[in-house]
Amino acid sequence: MVIRYLNCLTCSARVPRNLHTGALCLLVETRQGLVLVDTGLGEDDYIHKAGILRAFQVATIVPLDPQETAIRQISRLGYPPQDVRHIVLTHMHFDHCGGLPDFPHATVHVHEVEYNAFTGRRRYWPEFAYVRRHIAHQPSFELYADASRESWYGLPAIRLPFEPQMWLVPLFGHTRGHCGVAVQTDSSWNFHVGDAAPVDLDDSAPGWLTRVALGPHADRLRAFGAIHTEVQMTAGHMRLDFFKSAA
Ligand SMILES: [Zn+2]
Repeated sequence: MVIRYLNCLTCSARVPRNLHTGALCLLVETRQGLVLVDTGLGEDDYIHKAGILRAFQVATIVPLDPQETAIRQISRLGYPPQDVRHIVLTHMHFDHCGGLPDFPHATVHVHEVEYNAFTGRRRYWPEFAYVRRHIAHQPSFELYADASRESWYGLPAIRLPFEPQMWLVPLFGHTRGHCGVAVQTDSSWNFHVGDAAPVDLDDSAPGWLTRVALGPHADRLRAFGAIHTEVQMTAGHMRLDFFKSAA
């Protein structure tokens, strides 16, 4: 079983200046074909920059190198991009699903609440980071709703249709339908918590700020990682060092 950790958007904070991060996407070889967890930006985002991306560039330093798109990285790794049959999304913010149009034949797996938030009327500020054209190519969606019947490590979760096992773990808050994704590895699990926790899951940001921006789960997720040391925990944005060590 092969799992690759792709940095699909390098981004440096203006404050603190030493915080250089990448948006993490997972590329997983499964019996059902290649599965991509989150996509980063897509090719078209570099040509037609969305307003939210321009706003993001005010807050952070984004080199915007199209070589970082998932499709180019997957090609460089030697996989035909059309082998990406499935995309699982933690949530639908522009920096997590902008690459959907680059994989038009992939089925998109996402929580129904998130899909409805993306397609419905915008109600609160995190929804302004949705870019509608990211699904203008009308991909085929597989929506998931009920997490009450099964659990993964005691957390309510929804089993995704892949081998090795993958689970969608609802962690609502950063967006209305945000989820983590647990991926079974050869020896254990990778629990990708997306934007439910800060960069590297670290705890240096004030708790109130984390709760406002990322939702209520960060402390609980760090506690989970401290107990289950065999589980690799990753967040939606990781320090650049992580990608070097994971390569
Ligand atoms: Zn987000």
